[in-house]
Amino acid sequence: MKGTEWSDYIAPPDSSWTWKKITHTMQAFKQVYVDNKWLDSDRPYTPQSGYDWLRTKHPKVNWGFLCWNTMNVPKTSFIFWSFMHKRLLTKDRMARMGIAADLRCDICASSNEDHDHLFYSRPYSVRCCRLLQQQLHVYFNISELVHWFSSVRLTSLQRRFIGACHVALIYWVWMARNEARVHTYVRRPEDMVNQIMQDIHTRFLRLNLSAIHTKDLSWLQSLHLT
Ligand SMILES: [Zn+2]
Repeated sequence: MKGTEWSDYIAPPDSSWTWKKITHTMQAFKQVYVDNKWLDSDRPYTPQSGYDWLRTKHPKVNWGFLCWNTMNVPKTSFIFWSFMHKRLLTKDRMARMGIAADLRCDICASSNEDHDHLFYSRPYSVRCCRLLQQQLHVYFNISELVHWFSSVRLTSLQRRFIGACHVALIYWVWMARNEARVHTYVRRPEDMVNQIMQDIHTRFLRLNLSAIHTKDLSWLQSLHLT
């Protein structure tokens, strides 16, 4: 980038996906923002106004409510966003980029690692999902996550709570994969599910909702949260 204005810089074709994305976003801002001001008004640029502009610029997706749910643990939302775009750096993707030789799944070793194996068919992930869903009294395949939410009747609180738990599940399945890869240690599914339920319960309490419907109260009691 040396000697080049950031707004004129174009990432070389062999740059990483992240770097290309960052520079692409900088190019997008160039059309609407100059000298700390928006071109269409005298409003100063702020990180919040920039973020809002960027969000509305992209086409709406039918899983946005899952990604931007206030009950999510913040660190889980980005991994979920990457998961929905199939952007997580699984071994099959790494191999296509020429940076992975061993394609075997580090947890079960019975199959090669790709997005579908990692999240949908691997016995470990399926077990984590079943245990979590037993706690939440729901049942569906994680591959049908978005469809399930659009086809079932839930209160707003149930939708947010169950949604945040599944977003966290994707995050922890991805973390378990990374732990297995680096430390050859595999987290117990029971421990993962307990962690998820605790985390989302803490988020729910922090939201400090003023009025909770009786129906939601009895649903929350049925989860046996401690
Ligand atoms: Zn596996």
